[in-house]
Amino acid sequence: MKSKIVWSAALAVAASVAAPVASANSFFTIGTGGVTGVYYPAGGAICRLVNKDRKDHGLRCSVESTGGSVFNVNAIRSGDIEFGVTQSDWQFHGIKGSKAFEKQGPMPELRSVFSLHPEPFTLLARKESNIKSFDDLKGKRVNIGNPGSGTVASMDELLAAMGASRSFFGLAAELRPDEHGAALCDNKIDAFFYGVGHPSANIQDPTTACGAQLANITGPAVDKLVKANPYYAYAEIPGGLYANNPNTTRTYGVKATLVTSAKVPEQTVYVLVRAVFENFEEFKKLHPALANLRPQDMVTDGNSAPLHPGAARYFREKGLLK
Ligand code: GLU
Repeated sequence: MKSKIVWSAALAVAASVAAPVASANSFFTIGTGGVTGVYYPAGGAICRLVNKDRKDHGLRCSVESTGGSVFNVNAIRSGDIEFGVTQSDWQFHGIKGSKAFEKQGPMPELRSVFSLHPEPFTLLARKESNIKSFDDLKGKRVNIGNPGSGTVASMDELLAAMGASRSFFGLAAELRPDEHGAALCDNKIDAFFYGVGHPSANIQDPTTACGAQLANITGPAVDKLVKANPYYAYAEIPGGLYANNPNTTRTYGVKATLVTSAKVPEQTVYVLVRAVFENFEEFKKLHPALANLRPQDMVTDGNSAPLHPGAARYFREKGLLK
């Protein structure tokens, strides 16, 4: 009994010391992806706009580099982070507890905030490998994405749709996105797969450093996936976007989305959404993959979890939501 009293007294002291500096919920974190991807700078852009008006609303936003989509949804569930960027397919499965979330089960408290840029699944191969399509990856050394990424989880879906497994590849490596470009140019892998927005420095570097080539991801398995699932769509990477890649690449993909938990206060989500939408032109300029964003699409596309009330309040005020 005594130790319990001592423990709560210590807590009370800690609380009274902390109180003048920061009240509960005054800090929040956005989980993103690898530092060379688009999630990390996109999360940084959101935080920059939130923190600009910190004096008025008292909230401080910080950004964290993480394993990616699946990790972020799980970290929101455990309360380790308040917001996360996740692919639209993993937002869909997060709330239902399906596929990569089967072990954890449904997450009814998952909430969407808004969607971001499109993420075409991107296949980049060594110039010397002669890989022109997904089928050419059979028996090859392929980086399929790090554990916790949406990339690797979506790769598993594609393989399943083909009736195949990771043994389709000679080697299925799980390097992080900040490692796969060098591994490609150093001939440690023949190709890598990455669900990412464009343009991205991550793709730009190997296309300039060693002439790496984008390859198409098309065929019956892709057709089946796009037809059966609302979160997939056909996608193209325009020719000439990257050095040494003059032709258009055909593939399919998802949207990046920002998600949170129903447990995060309405005012916190409202402040974040307002900061982005009231500074929209500035936001779009903070990363080239954000340049084509349109407010209405961000409210309607790719969000399968219910909209968080804080986001809905702002969108209603602006006539973006009926
Ligand atoms: N879509 C990737 C993933 O969830 C992350 C892409 C990025 O960091 O821009 O694994």
